Amino acid sequence: MHTVVELQGVHKRFGSNTVLRGVSFQVARGEVVAIIGKSGSGKSTALRCINRLEQIDAGQISVCGHALHAAGLDLRGLRRDVGIVFQGYNLFPHLTVLQNITLGPTAVKRMPADQAQTLAQQVLARVGLADKAGAYPEQLSGGQQQRVAIARSLALQPQLMLFDEVTSALDPELTGEVLKVMEQMASEGMTMILVTHEMAFARRVADQVIFMHQGQVWEQGGPEILDAPVTPELRSFVGTGL
Ligand code: ADP
Ligand code: MG
Repeated sequence: MHTVVELQGVHKRFGSNTVLRGVSFQVARGEVVAIIGKSGSGKSTALRCINRLEQIDAGQISVCGHALHAAGLDLRGLRRDVGIVFQGYNLFPHLTVLQNITLGPTAVKRMPADQAQTLAQQVLARVGLADKAGAYPEQLSGGQQQRVAIARSLALQPQLMLFDEVTSALDPELTGEVLKVMEQMASEGMTMILVTHEMAFARRVADQVIFMHQGQVWEQGGPEILDAPVTPELRSFVGTGL
């Protein structure tokens, strides 16, 4: 098994608020991991620590061969290897879809413009938006904008993708098209960690489910843990769906 992500005893606090209390888990290459849990349980913080948007206070994290605590950490290399998509799409409103996507490869990877455009067309096709290259973000639905945001990450050819509640802000009828793209990526072998409230999606697509509670990995296992929760906390969580 090739380990892409490893957290060991990770602690993170904001001031006096300890948000992660000894979080440990591993993600193998090609694995899809769903992180679930109540609001405030530390899911987003855990994800943000993995691409070092947050620095940890104790423990160790290794991601795609980068030891995040190492003095000589290649932060740019880490950011190249790890794509992250948030709930808000953060597309540049004054740039076309194509320009939003080529910006990363040309600026970060110094890719020639024509090559970046070819790549952008390829990733747009993967998210089903080949015909929207010339559109501006405001001309697209929320679901389409979120698919552009995913395409933009894919254009950097990451080894790992992180998704933080990417469908939470979408109307229910637009959620499916985004989940479909993510499911497609999973089936193509992308290593993915996703924070999600979509239990049906987690059941169907995740290899591993991590239930976080009060900054800890409270329960962990295959998707079957959702059907047979051991702890009262997970039982209550899957019961209410909140
Ligand atoms: P979740 O994603 O599970 O809802 P978060 O990781 O966003 O939880 O937040 C966990 C806790 O950390 C919350 O109490 C939240 O208020 C706190 N927190 C998150 N980010 C920050 C921050 N940048 N500064 C201070 N507190 C934060
Ligand atoms: Mg969150």
